Amino acid sequence: MKKDNSLPPVPPRKDAPFPQWRFPLWYLPLMILILWLWQGTVSQFAVRTIPYSEFKEHLARGQVLEASVKTDEITGKIQTNAVPPESKAATTSTNASAAAKWDRGKFIFRTIRVEDPKLVEELQAANVKFVGVRPSVMSQFLLGWILPIGIMIALWVFISRKIAGGGGPGQSILSIGKSKARLAVDKDTGVTFGDVAGCEEAKFELQEVVDFLKNPDRYKAIGAKIPKGVLLVGPPGTGKTLLARAVAGEAKVPFFYLTGSDFVEMFVGVGAARVRDLFQQAKGQAPCIIFIDELDAIGRQRGVHIGAVNDEREQTLNQLLVEMDGFEANTGVILLSATNRPDVLDRALLRPGRFDRQVIVDAPDVEGREAVLKVHARGKPLGNDVDLRRIAQATPGFSGADLANALNEAALLAARHQGKEISEKDLEEAVEKVVAGPERKSRRLTEDQKQRVAYHEVGHALVAAHSEHSDPVHKISIIPRGHAALGYTMQLPTDDQYLLSRSELMDRLRGLLGGRAAEELVFPEVTTGAENDLERATALARQMICVYGMSDKIGLVHCAQRPNQFLIGADAQFQRDCSEATAREIDQEVKKLLDRVYVEAKEILTAFRQELEFVTRELLKSESLDGPTFYRLIGKTSPERRRDPVAAAIS
Ligand code: ADP
Ligand code: MG
Ligand code: ZN
Repeated sequence: MKKDNSLPPVPPRKDAPFPQWRFPLWYLPLMILILWLWQGTVSQFAVRTIPYSEFKEHLARGQVLEASVKTDEITGKIQTNAVPPESKAATTSTNASAAAKWDRGKFIFRTIRVEDPKLVEELQAANVKFVGVRPSVMSQFLLGWILPIGIMIALWVFISRKIAGGGGPGQSILSIGKSKARLAVDKDTGVTFGDVAGCEEAKFELQEVVDFLKNPDRYKAIGAKIPKGVLLVGPPGTGKTLLARAVAGEAKVPFFYLTGSDFVEMFVGVGAARVRDLFQQAKGQAPCIIFIDELDAIGRQRGVHIGAVNDEREQTLNQLLVEMDGFEANTGVILLSATNRPDVLDRALLRPGRFDRQVIVDAPDVEGREAVLKVHARGKPLGNDVDLRRIAQATPGFSGADLANALNEAALLAARHQGKEISEKDLEEAVEKVVAGPERKSRRLTEDQKQRVAYHEVGHALVAAHSEHSDPVHKISIIPRGHAALGYTMQLPTDDQYLLSRSELMDRLRGLLGGRAAEELVFPEVTTGAENDLERATALARQMICVYGMSDKIGLVHCAQRPNQFLIGADAQFQRDCSEATAREIDQEVKKLLDRVYVEAKEILTAFRQELEFVTRELLKSESLDGPTFYRLIGKTSPERRRDPVAAAIS
C-alpha cells in the first residue's frame, strides 16, 4: 500500500526572461549635474573669490605678491601675514585683529575687475609683479571638459561591467569577469583514492592521470599524449565529485573546482570571459586539475533551444571548446568533468582532443558496497554483531551516497538511544529508513484498516514465497513509513543481477499483484491501497513487451525509448516509439499479461488460504515479521538468497 515514491520527471528548464541592460534614462541628467558641479569646483579650486574692495585693501597693505590682470578679473597671490613694509613699526592692535579676520598664509585670490583707472599705478606703487593675461582656452578646456568627461566614461564602463558581472550584492566589484573558480582553488584536497571505494575500474583509469601529473617528463620523453579531458559519467551519488578530488589529492596538485552553473551567467560575454580567465590561471599553476562538476549545465547540445540565456550558454560552451583546443596536450593542465546526463552533452565536447576519455562510475556491486561501508564506518564504533557484508547484500542498487547516508542514520539512531556503538539493529533500521522512508508512528489506522493492510501485505509475501523465481521475503510490516506507505513487504535479493529471465519477471509481476488479490479474496470490496502496486506492475509489463521483446504478438520490436541511461530503475520514463496501431496492440498485450498473473496470484492465495489467515493474524499481533519468522510460519526454510538488481519493497 504505497503511493509512488519515484521522482517526478524533471520538467525542462524554462529559460528565464533575459534582462537586457539598457542605457538608463537617469544616467544623463545625473552626469550633467555632476559636470556642472565639477565646473564650479574646478574654477574655485583653492581660489578665494574676494570683493574688489578687499583686494584693494590688501594692495594698500602691500600683501599682494603677484597679480594677473585679465579682461574681466584679476587673479593672483596674497600673503596676509606679510607685514606691509611702511607700517612695520606701527602695527596696532586693531590692525592685528583685522589681519586675523583673513586667514594667515598665502592664498590665491580672484576678484571681479571693476573699472579702476588707477589700478596700474597702485600696483606699481605696491611693487607687485603683475602681468596681463588673455584667458587660456586650452587649460580651461582640458580641466573643465576633457577631464570630467573622461572620468564619466570610465565610470560608465565601470558601472556597466559591474552590472554585467551579475554578481550578488556581496560580490566584489574588482573581480569583474574573473573566474569564480579562483576562490575554490584547493592546494591539497586531502582526499585520496583510499577514501573512494567500489569503483576500481574508474580508479585504475584515473591512476594514469595521477601518474602523468606527477611525472610529466616521462610521458613527454616517449611522446605520449595524455588526454586533456576526462569525463566522469555515472548516476548521482556514486562518487564522481569525490573521485575528482581524490585525483588532485593523490597527485598533490592544485584543484580548480567549479560547477557548470557557475559559467551560466546572465550576461553575454562574461561567461566566455570566465572560461578564458580560468584557463589562464590554470596554466599559471600547472600542473593542476580543473574540475567542472555537472558539466551538462553548460555542455548541452547546441542549437536545441532558442533564447538569450541559451545564446550565452552556447557562447560559453564555444569558449570552452576553443580553450580546450587552445592548450597543448602535456601542458600539465587536465580537465576533469562530471555529469550524469552524458546523453545531452554536445557532441563536439566528446570528440578526441577534448573529453576524449570517459570513465564510467557506476553504482557499486556487492563487493563495492561492502568497501564503501568500510570506508564510512571508519571512526564509527560498530558492535560485534555487525556484519557489513550482510548489509552490503541487503542494499542492492544503493549508491555510495546512499550507503554513507545509511551509516550516518545508523549512527544517529545509536546516539538517540544512548548506545556506545552501532548495532546490527540500528543498521537494519537505517537501511529500511533509506529504502522506505522514516516510520510514521503518528499515523493511526483503525483496526479495520490495519487488518486490510495486513492481508494485503501478506498477500504479496505469500505469492512471492510460492513462486519459484521470486526474491526472498525479507520483511513484512504494517508500520506506516514514508509519505504514503501504510505497510510494506520487502523482498531482497542477495546480489546484483544484470540479467533477468522471463520467469523471474513474471514472478515479480505476480508478487506485485498479490496484495490486491488478497484483498479481493478476503473482502467484499477493493480499496485504493494497490495503486502503487498497479503502477509498478503496469510499467514492468509494458517494459517486458516493449523493450525486452518478451511478447509473442509484438515480437522483437523495440518500441520505446529510454531517455536517460543513468536514471533507469523504477522511475524510468520510457517514450513510445511506434505507430498507433502497435501502441494499441501493446496496450492489449499489457492487459492480457496483467490479467493472467492476477489470476495466478489469486489461485496461489486460494490454495494457501490457511496460511494467509494465520500469517495475517501473526502480523497483526506483532506489526512486523522478518524473513526467517515468515518462512517458519508457512513451514518453509528461508530460501537460498539469490541474485537480483533492485531492492524491491512492495507495499
Ligand atoms: P556524485 O557522483 O553525485 O558527484 P559525490 O562524489 O558527491 O557523488 O558523493 C557524495 C558522497 O557520497 C561522498 O561525499 C561520499 O561521502 C559518498 N560516496 C559516494 N560514492 C562513494 C564511494 N565510491 N566511496 C566512498 N564514498 C562515497
Ligand atoms: Mg557530484
Ligand atoms: Zn501492495
